[in-house]
Amino acid sequence: MIIRARAVVTMDGPPIENGAVAVSGNRIIDVGKFPEISARHSGQQLVDLGEQVMLPGLINGHCHLDYTCLRSKIQPQNSFADWIRSINAEKARLSAQDYVASITEGFTEAKKFGTTTIANLTAFPELILQVDPPLRTWWFAELIDVRSPERANELVDHAVESLKPAANWGLAPHAPFTASENLYRRCEEVARRDNVLLTTHLAESRQEMSMFRDSAGPLYDFMKEIGRDMNDCGDQTPLDRFLGTVRDSSTAPRSARNDKRAVRNDAGWIVAHLNELAASDFELLETFSGKFHVVHSPRSHDYFAHSAFAFERLRDLGFNICLGTDSLASNENLNLFAEMRAFRRGEPAVSPKEALEMVTVNGGRALGRPQILGRIRANYFADLIAIPCSGITDVFEEIGAFDRPVDWMMVNGRM
Ligand SMILES: [Zn+2]
Repeated sequence: MIIRARAVVTMDGPPIENGAVAVSGNRIIDVGKFPEISARHSGQQLVDLGEQVMLPGLINGHCHLDYTCLRSKIQPQNSFADWIRSINAEKARLSAQDYVASITEGFTEAKKFGTTTIANLTAFPELILQVDPPLRTWWFAELIDVRSPERANELVDHAVESLKPAANWGLAPHAPFTASENLYRRCEEVARRDNVLLTTHLAESRQEMSMFRDSAGPLYDFMKEIGRDMNDCGDQTPLDRFLGTVRDSSTAPRSARNDKRAVRNDAGWIVAHLNELAASDFELLETFSGKFHVVHSPRSHDYFAHSAFAFERLRDLGFNICLGTDSLASNENLNLFAEMRAFRRGEPAVSPKEALEMVTVNGGRALGRPQILGRIRANYFADLIAIPCSGITDVFEEIGAFDRPVDWMMVNGRM
């Protein structure tokens, strides 16, 4: 099949005017100017998209479709701990069938806005067989052992059994304040054994920082109240806790101290948030440059009024940064075009092209598939979308301004 459009944005160099993509099965086999593609693949079915720009399908690097049904249900709270209490109260009212319906509705909405790949955390991996994802999906089991840390291994192994039928899966120990060190370690063992991905929430809120660094604040009180062992609080940042860093009183530079932090060195974590970083964390991050991926969720970030996301510093340190919507318990929809716009409102120096990279190329890298995901190039998955193109302004500007549902898309070679 040949698909022609007024312009093709490949994410490899400038847009191709009067471009075309040849697709066979679920893969792109060729891309270039329409006359060349039609000459090289004569006799193929032609789909002419007319005055549209074709681009790679968008990749949502972090979301929780479980909570699609909680849109507008929880107003911003005084503290992150209060928000957790509120979402827990909402969740207590939902049945398994409510969650299946919520996840299904989320997929439909994400697809409507041009998402073709999604990194979806679910607290209910046992339900995934009841859902038929219309998108390329990484299912991450979100794991919390704060009330029963002695069962960490059991929890992970049970989740793995539910996840195995999925084409793509991974593990998501929720956050350092709800997941024990053993839970993180067990997830890393499984990830290495089964070659799967890992993701977690880290340094999301000010309260998480004050809990770990100062043994204080609403999140500290909440966690203590529910029986968490708070011995890891008082002298480390959330990043220290995640990286397994051990503090010492040496005056040597942080980067020259302990060896234990190699714990999280090689597993290719996708780290969500990273909003709250101390000066010492940046020193530490220099030694971890490029060792994990970062997902930023601009509209969820604004909802919670977190500290400014250090985009430029993290990017300049070599971190691969992508965008995600997070859940609709802290966002209004699953539209990554809106997410790009929200991001650029806070980072006006970022071009529309760079923002688009964060939901295409960078997402493909974070998901460990940089050779097949996130571009329009031979051998990549045929995950494509098209939006109207007036030709009046720059193509990337038009993409950046697009704010409607996407009319045409192909996922895995299927329209
Ligand atoms: Zn999240």
